[in-house]
Amino acid sequence: MTHVFYRNSRSTPPTATRGEGAYIYDDTGKQYLDGSGGAAVSCLGHSDPDVIAAVQTQVATLDFAHTGFFTSGPAEALAERLVTHAPDGIDRVYFVSGGSEAVETALKMARQYFVETGEPQRTRFISRKQSYHGNTLGALAAGGNVWRKEKFAPLLADTAHISPCYAYRGQEAGESLEAYGQRVANELESELQRVSPETVIAFIAEPVVGATLGAVPAVPGYFKRIREICDRYGVLLILDEVMCGMGRTGTLFACEQDGVAPDIITIAKGLGAGYQPIGATLCTNQIHEVFVQGSGFFQHGHTYIGHPVACAAGNAVVTKLTDGGMVARAAQMGEKLDQALRDAFGDHPHIGDIRGRGMFRGLEIVEDRASKSPFDPARGINKRVKAAAFEAGLICYPMGGTVDGQRGDHVLLAPPFILTDDQIGELIEKLGTALQSALS
Ligand code: PMP
Repeated sequence: MTHVFYRNSRSTPPTATRGEGAYIYDDTGKQYLDGSGGAAVSCLGHSDPDVIAAVQTQVATLDFAHTGFFTSGPAEALAERLVTHAPDGIDRVYFVSGGSEAVETALKMARQYFVETGEPQRTRFISRKQSYHGNTLGALAAGGNVWRKEKFAPLLADTAHISPCYAYRGQEAGESLEAYGQRVANELESELQRVSPETVIAFIAEPVVGATLGAVPAVPGYFKRIREICDRYGVLLILDEVMCGMGRTGTLFACEQDGVAPDIITIAKGLGAGYQPIGATLCTNQIHEVFVQGSGFFQHGHTYIGHPVACAAGNAVVTKLTDGGMVARAAQMGEKLDQALRDAFGDHPHIGDIRGRGMFRGLEIVEDRASKSPFDPARGINKRVKAAAFEAGLICYPMGGTVDGQRGDHVLLAPPFILTDDQIGELIEKLGTALQSALS
């Protein structure tokens, strides 16, 4: 008998008892290869001695000091480390406990920025259809995933949505990738004009879309055009790197590969690598200065912001990612994973697309490759793949997205960067078994 309220209210999952490297073990001793790092969390695997030591030392030195009274060494050190590697202009870091809090913080920071600068009529956000930015009411409202929102719709602020940059389904015959990217980016300008640009606070998007589309990067030039449009209308650009940030795509910040510097970036998941719950909202000095010169106070806050133990874990993680070469390893092993996926599933009759960057890869499952038509949602393909993979000892992250109004299926892979060549082989073999069993 369990008293824990699980996501799936009708069943109790197996009990995880131990983690080692790229594996998790349950209480029966069964071994699972963590092919998705949970949900793109465990970038360093499960028993990293340096992160464990940093957590142990910090908790024994200073467990907690409320930021209403103090800053702390770990918070200062982690902020400095992040800012050193962040895109141009990003200069301040607001620590929180996870991704939804980071997005919620970004939305409120952006809103208060305009209140302080005398533009209180800016009250809405624009995001992309099918996007997911977190489960708290503000972050949920900002997202565009209908299924996740529909039960809560009456409680959610109205957000405008444009098309995602999703070349596999959106690119028209004869259209170049660049032209496609400009066309969908230009939807932001049309939408701004439709809702009146002076009413918009910010545009929010993931540089590489994770959970809702399955590791879909924007096409070249897309985010540069988005940046231009935001600048033209004085709208802030928030990039949500909760899932794709912290080295996952082969650079510490995913947006480095798009050549844009946003006004605000959210990170979480890989920042604590699973050793501690931590997220952060990073912003430009320009935004921070407005708060300094204005009310002097960001009207926000949570009890655990800047938690010393979480920041100590984050510091050890980011040190390994940067100085320790793990971001470079994510780029290198990511190429190998991509090649292995193409070799194994490139001709698979039901794999329509293989995509992603670094150790962030997605497979789109279709009924028919030529027409790209998805399977009937009633077949629950993504759930079947998840169950069959789990049975075979592989944790992966299959999801259903909405494809042209219909549910479609994809598998997201986000393994630890420490994955070895042999473990890539194991992942491919187990995924093959799962696909065969789920699709038969
Ligand atoms: N933004 C993105 C892009 C995410 O993928 C997620 C989590 N999947 C969140 C925000 C919310 O993060 P959390 O679950 O840590 O609250």
